[in-house]
Amino acid sequence: MGLPRFIRPNGVDEQLSPNLYVANCGPSVGLSYEIIKSVFSKFGQVKGVYAADESGARVIVSYVDVGSAQAALKALDGHSCPDLGGRSLHIRFSVLQPTSEVNDSIPVSLVASELSIPGLYLWHDFINAKEEQELLTAVDDRPWNNLSKRRVQHYGYEFCYETRNVNTKEQLGELPSFVSSILERISSLPDLGDSASLVLDQLTVNEYPRGVGLSPHIDTHSAFEGLIFSLSLAGPCIMEFRRYLDGSWLPKTASSNDMKVKNLENGSNLIRRAIHLPPRSMLLLSGEARYAWHHYIPHHKIDMVNDNVIRRGSRRVSFTFRKVRKGPCQCEFPQYCDSQR
Ligand SMILES: [Zn+2]
Repeated sequence: MGLPRFIRPNGVDEQLSPNLYVANCGPSVGLSYEIIKSVFSKFGQVKGVYAADESGARVIVSYVDVGSAQAALKALDGHSCPDLGGRSLHIRFSVLQPTSEVNDSIPVSLVASELSIPGLYLWHDFINAKEEQELLTAVDDRPWNNLSKRRVQHYGYEFCYETRNVNTKEQLGELPSFVSSILERISSLPDLGDSASLVLDQLTVNEYPRGVGLSPHIDTHSAFEGLIFSLSLAGPCIMEFRRYLDGSWLPKTASSNDMKVKNLENGSNLIRRAIHLPPRSMLLLSGEARYAWHHYIPHHKIDMVNDNVIRRGSRRVSFTFRKVRKGPCQCEFPQYCDSQR
């Protein structure tokens, strides 16, 4: 989900705007977004309250119309406000910087079942803090490959980013011993049934610096089998899922009809869902989630999880475990399948 990008007004040629930049206001000074919204709603319809920066003490209040913003500014700027515990706010008009991410926020779920994406699972606290530290130490002792915005390590097979595929003839070796206990735990997961016997043989370790995300993609069908496990370490992030609907074809998930309609973007054939991935959690993409949904990590330094501002850590490290596919993919989603096109 996107934090809208606003710039701070320069004050001189102040421009009227339906958006207000409000200082001395936010969760870090004890004012929740809910309270802020209720106070500002007295002057007109508030579209949203957003973090203006990472401080937690400056917000953008976005009105439907300029008149409401003017009225709120006049009434609240520099005056002690009884509804806010006597706090004085400093308010200016804010200039909205149009970006594709403005107002694109969707609700962020904490549990996978709320997303109604078949084949998507999330286990919180899959490893403990000590194990997390050991895994980080292990990879930090080994050489990283630099990509343009993040660092990676590959085990088992090298992954080629140009072709988004692996060279199955070039095996690097077994997966390293520092992930043995993780692999054991994966094979004992209850939801997998027969799939649990799958021998995972490729590990990609990604290190994302703060603010760096991942572009929307589906892991190449022909490169990997149907189960993709991803362990998050060190810092949290939001992962968004997008299902592009072609023509009249709709996913088979009858149970999620309501959410589908709600999250369909105006005029587009797109369903979006978002989930919070805390450190030490294990995500599984399988079935429809793996074959038919694009996943991506927004490039944000802060994420809004419902009303809470969650700062990304100084880095997030992910361990992605996959099984290299040796034959063509025969999934039920030919429209997304490079083996079946
Ligand atoms: Zn396929």
